[in-house]
Amino acid sequence: MIGEGILKGMAETARNFFGSYVSKDRLVTLQYPEQRDPQIEAARSFPFLVCDGGDWQQAMRCVACQICEKECPPKCIFIEKSKDKKPDANGKLQFYPAVFNIDISVCMSCQICAEVCPFDAIKMDVDHDLSSDDRFGGLLLNKQRLAKSNEYYNSIHPTEAAAVDARLAGERARQEAKAKAAAEAKSAAEAKLAAATPVQPAIGEPR
Ligand code: SF4
Ligand code: SF4
Repeated sequence: MIGEGILKGMAETARNFFGSYVSKDRLVTLQYPEQRDPQIEAARSFPFLVCDGGDWQQAMRCVACQICEKECPPKCIFIEKSKDKKPDANGKLQFYPAVFNIDISVCMSCQICAEVCPFDAIKMDVDHDLSSDDRFGGLLLNKQRLAKSNEYYNSIHPTEAAAVDARLAGERARQEAKAKAAAEAKSAAEAKLAAATPVQPAIGEPR
């Protein structure tokens, strides 16, 4: 029947309107920002950079490989790789982003940067209260504004962050086991070599 969809829509609107006087479930208006819907885990707004420890500069997981910058469809990520290396949160020497900016007025929240990062260093935030009348100061986020702790990541995406933590812990354990095995093999080889080398008599001693 022509107009059936319109009638159904109006009936639903009327049901919600009159129902809101008797049922709280029908009250769909929230007095934002004082009232907010509970955050769902799958929500996403703009990217942030994950840090593993206290000092955000040292603890940043990003090693400035620039893969996210290349893959970002609207090209709103700008990275300058450091010339030197410094220890990361695990004490390993790494390059780091001397500059890392994201223009969130251009970002389309596609999450591609988070998906391509091999280091789990960039993830999607849920913070969307970012409107500003300062085009560059307010919406061009530098690395200090992008840096957020792993605890924060766990608080907004607990399931995803727990899986990342478990994977990184597994990788760390594998690397430590490999390094330990290599050190043991090296000391065993040195001991073998020392045992096979004849002791040279001291000068003046009979040979
Ligand atoms: S966020 Fe990830 S992909 Fe982007 S530069 Fe840093 S390490 Fe590379
Ligand atoms: S979410 Fe998409 S558009 Fe935004 S910075 Fe990442 S890759 Fe670029």
